Amino acid sequence: MTDFPPAPTDCPFEKSFPSQLLRDDAFHMWLAYNQAIDAWREDEVPVGAVIELGGEVIAAAHNQVAGTRDPTAHAEILAMTQAARAIGDWRLNEATLYVTKEPCPMCSGATLMARIKRVVYAVADPKMGCLGGATDLNALPQINHHLEITRGVLESECRDLLQAFFRLKRAEEP
Ligand SMILES: [Zn+2]
Repeated sequence: MTDFPPAPTDCPFEKSFPSQLLRDDAFHMWLAYNQAIDAWREDEVPVGAVIELGGEVIAAAHNQVAGTRDPTAHAEILAMTQAARAIGDWRLNEATLYVTKEPCPMCSGATLMARIKRVVYAVADPKMGCLGGATDLNALPQINHHLEITRGVLESECRDLLQAFFRLKRAEEP
């Protein structure tokens, strides 16, 4: 019997459907996690983001860099664009962004430019993370908007997803 390697779009992780009754940080991060699984199913690096405002989820997106051939198509950027459209205002100053991996330089900058109230991320990124992992744009001394930041929500689940994806990618390399 031959063992066929799994197709890159076969995600070995299942989506999670948290109770709607308790809409806490973990609830919203599970929604971001589900977005990350959607990314994997499109053979994209599995990062997902959702934006909550006033108890409602107003945006949900996942990384689409490869499919759109757009280096700016990160989950956070796509979610912020959606959210701004949804409320008809570029200022997202009452919104919370949930994302499965710490935002990169571009996305960290965008959260500041959008004046997001709070960023919650799962996995820190010591290479590219710019909200505390590699450096901290939120600590720029002269800026007048600062984010509230919560780290480590569903960290192990989101880390497992990312690590498994990259392991598979490395195995695919000739
Ligand atoms: Zn980014």
